[in-house]
Amino acid sequence: MANNSDYAFQKCINPECAATFDVAEILVKCPTCGDMLDVAYDWDKMDVPGSLKDFEKRWTRTNPLDFSGVWRFRDLLNFCPDDCKVTVGEGQTILQRNDALAKDLGIDAGCLHLEYEGLNPSGSFKDNGMTAAFSHARLVGATASACASTGNTSASMALYAHSTGMSCTVFIGSGRIAYGKLSQAMDYGAHTLQIAGDFDDCMRQVQAVCAQLGIYLVNSLNPFRLEGQKTIMFRILEQLGWQVPDWIIVPGGNLGNSSSFGKAFAELKQLGLIDRVPRLAIINAEGANTLTHLYNDRNLRWNDGRPDADLVQEFYDDLTARKYSPRTVASAIEISRPVNLTKCLRALDICDGVVISVPDEEIIDAKAQIGLRGLGCEPASAATIAGLKHLLADGVVDPSAKIACVLTGHPLKDPNLTVNYHKDNKGKFSNPPVEVPNDLNAIIKAMKQA
Ligand SMILES: *Cc1c(COP(=O)(O)O)cnc(C)c1O
Ligand SMILES: [Zn+2]
Repeated sequence: MANNSDYAFQKCINPECAATFDVAEILVKCPTCGDMLDVAYDWDKMDVPGSLKDFEKRWTRTNPLDFSGVWRFRDLLNFCPDDCKVTVGEGQTILQRNDALAKDLGIDAGCLHLEYEGLNPSGSFKDNGMTAAFSHARLVGATASACASTGNTSASMALYAHSTGMSCTVFIGSGRIAYGKLSQAMDYGAHTLQIAGDFDDCMRQVQAVCAQLGIYLVNSLNPFRLEGQKTIMFRILEQLGWQVPDWIIVPGGNLGNSSSFGKAFAELKQLGLIDRVPRLAIINAEGANTLTHLYNDRNLRWNDGRPDADLVQEFYDDLTARKYSPRTVASAIEISRPVNLTKCLRALDICDGVVISVPDEEIIDAKAQIGLRGLGCEPASAATIAGLKHLLADGVVDPSAKIACVLTGHPLKDPNLTVNYHKDNKGKFSNPPVEVPNDLNAIIKAMKQA
């Protein structure tokens, strides 16, 4: 089968190595130096539209690839032929201008936008990346896939695995997954292994298993995943009439999303398709704040591709010595050894980024507030609004700035947390059901109290 290797290739992100590899090789790390890989392109040999507006013409329903919110931008991630590309209709998401929430936060009308990635087929942004990873898996003829997951990666992998006839195995930490997500993995037929450990343990084990058994790994270490996730930014630009916002705000877990956003903007700028890049704010949960600690307290930086690896190793050794395990209600970002850390530092460098952490109580309140004002989201996604409140209070983000928050997952992913928040009536936005006798007068009385 033809591959697109005359212009797409894999490239080590370490500038001292910069080794390149064929796009049809299955690699998760640079075989020369062990650093991470990018998918890179020889843009001059590709047929890239001269203006982003040209993509609007492509968007039709007749060809499923043109309907996909990922593949209708394929000129900007064209690493495999169209007959390898798989789609289940991912990326039909909306950017909602939300003036009610803006008002709550003291932001000017028309300035706050929420990108609802929970509207994807499996209910999270992961589908943007998974469609790309499984298209690559088809290119290389893989038959078995696996991932470590806090939940959404497994739901998305299982959906694409059965769409492509591949088997799939999920590694999840015991007791660390929201029910909606676990139900999807089982329903989509994933072989589910509950490991007695946390996400970081699962991540380490799944890499060893995939290397030993020749299984295709679909975690965000896989550079093809990040290519698909770039399109979240393309859609935000599109829905803003191709205007670049001032801020992109995203939760940080394994840091694949933030890494891919930085790459997207660097490429658009290089191609002359945008004239400036937005700033990036990455929000950690306080109970899983590796990036915040290393970036803010230890001053870890991309440093032209030479980040201080000893500093990172020292920090991880200390976590190991303390038997530290991250804890947050935002299970999707409950990660203390983010695999994309170096790529994320590059994104922060490209986008003049900032990083902060927020406590669980603020995440849960923000989640309820987003539900009250919009389509809702899962806890990790609400870290964006919880973080934005701090960035506004600290004067980092201006109330007249154009802001796009990426709401990464659907509200039904974690119904237990939502029900408990409202039922216990302890949160700022709790809205418990009222118990009423089966009696008309009592019901009318309860109605009047509303
Ligand atoms: C995976 C996930 C995240 C974390 O994204 P990273 O790319 O790992 O930083 C955040 N929110 C939700 C809902 C997720 O599923
Ligand atoms: Zn290398």
